Amino acid sequence: MTSKAFSRKEFLSSAAWMSAGIAAGKFTSSAEKTTDSEPPVTDKILIKGGYVLTMDEWAEDLLSGDVLIEGDTISDVGKDLDSTDAEVIDASGKIVMPGFVDSHRHMWQGVLRNVLPNGELSDYMRVVTGEARSVFRPDDAYIGNLLSAISALETGVTTVLDWSHIGNSPEHTDSAIRGLRESGIRAVYAAGTGSDTPENRFPDDLLRVREEQIPDNDPLLTLAIGAGINQQQWELARSVNARISVHVNGTGDLLPLADYLGPDVTCIHCCKLLDEEWELLSEKGTGVSISAPVEMIMGHGVPPVMKVLEFGVSTSLSVDVETTVPSNMFTQMRSVLSLQRMLRLNAEELNQKESVELLTSRDVLKYATINGALHNGLDEITGSLNSGKRADLIILNPNQLNTVPLNDLYGAVVNGMDRTNVEMVMVNGEIKKWEGRMRYESMEDLIGRAVESRKGIYDRAGWRER
Ligand SMILES: [Zn+2]
Repeated sequence: MTSKAFSRKEFLSSAAWMSAGIAAGKFTSSAEKTTDSEPPVTDKILIKGGYVLTMDEWAEDLLSGDVLIEGDTISDVGKDLDSTDAEVIDASGKIVMPGFVDSHRHMWQGVLRNVLPNGELSDYMRVVTGEARSVFRPDDAYIGNLLSAISALETGVTTVLDWSHIGNSPEHTDSAIRGLRESGIRAVYAAGTGSDTPENRFPDDLLRVREEQIPDNDPLLTLAIGAGINQQQWELARSVNARISVHVNGTGDLLPLADYLGPDVTCIHCCKLLDEEWELLSEKGTGVSISAPVEMIMGHGVPPVMKVLEFGVSTSLSVDVETTVPSNMFTQMRSVLSLQRMLRLNAEELNQKESVELLTSRDVLKYATINGALHNGLDEITGSLNSGKRADLIILNPNQLNTVPLNDLYGAVVNGMDRTNVEMVMVNGEIKKWEGRMRYESMEDLIGRAVESRKGIYDRAGWRER
C-alpha cells in the first residue's frame, strides 16, 4: 500500500468524500446493460480508480484506488499504480472489495432450495437430513454442490466452507468435491457424516479424502472436518492437518472438550452457551460462525450477536441451509446488523448488556469477508485486499436504482445492495462474472440437471408437490 493512501480518518470525513465526488458515478440501470465487452485476457490486470474497501488490517481504504493483479495474485494496492503493460478495468464510481466469505453452508442442499420456508429445526431433521438425504444419489450431491457454488459466485461469494454431511458413501463425498472443483470457487471441503447406510465411512473416510482427493491444501480446495462435539473426530482431523467445524446447539456441550478447543476450531450457532463457554472460546481463540436468519427462523435460539462482542470472540457469517434462506451474504449482514442493534438499543427491556457496543455496517462487512477467511483457515490467502493475497475480489456498482445516489460506501454495500449490484467477480485471478453476467458456459445444462435431480429426489422420497 503506498503512502498516498487516505487514512481511515480522512476517508471517513465527509469533506474528503465531497472533494472526491463520491456521488459522481454514472447511473446505469440493469436494463441498459447491453454492452458485450469481453473481460481482460492478459495475466496482468489493473483495476483502476475505484472506491477500494480493502478490509485489511494493514491496508487503508482508498477513495480513488487501483488494484494490480498479476496471474492469481494481487501484486499491489494503491493510488496511481503504473499500468503500462496491464489491461485496465475502469472502476471509477464503483466499489472494489474482497469477495465475500461464507464460513458454513451445506451445499449438497442446492437442489432443495426453499423446500422448508417455515420449518423448525425438528422439521429440518425429519425432511432434509432425514427423508431427502437418505434418497440422495452421488449425482444429486454433485449437482447440489455445483449449483450452490455457481450461485454463490454470482452473488459475490468467492470462498465458502462446504459443510458436507452427505457422506452416505465415499462416492457421494467424491461427487460433492467434484462439484466444488468444477465451479471454480475457493472452497474448504468439510467432510461430514451422511445417512445411516452401510457405505457411510465417516469419520475414517477423512483419511482417504486427504490422500486421494485433497493430498495437499491446494489454495483453491482445502480440507476440514464437519465434526460432532467429539474428541476422537477432532484428533483425527488434526492428524491430517484439517480444520474443525462443529455445530454447537446445546448448553454446556463444549465444557468436556475445553482442552481441545483452539484457533483451528470454528463453532457454529452457539445460541445457548453458558458464559463459562464464552470465556473458553475467547481464551482459546476459537471463532463462532453465526447463521442468523436460519437460527431465527428455525428456533436455534437467539443468535449470539451480543455475546460475541461481550466476550470478544471472533465472528463470521454463514448461509447454512438454502432450504430456508438465500445464497447471498447481503441477507446475512443485514440480519446480524438489525438484530444486534435491536437487542442493544433495547438492552434494559430485553435483559441484555448495555456496555456492549453497537455494531456498524463496517463491522458486519468485516464479519462477511476477512473474519470468514480467518475461520476457514485462509486469512493469509484471501478475505482482504493487499499485495501478496490471492486475487479474490468483486466490483460492486452503486450507480443503480437501489443505491444511487451514493452517500456512504459501507452503507451502500451493507444496507442497500443485493446481487444485482455485483458486476464483476474474480477468484484466484480468474473472472467468473463480468458486467453482471456469469461466465459459466454450462448454465442451461446445470439448471436442467438441477430440476431433474429435484424430481428424482421427490419421486424416491415419495413427496408430493408442496
Ligand atoms: Zn449447519
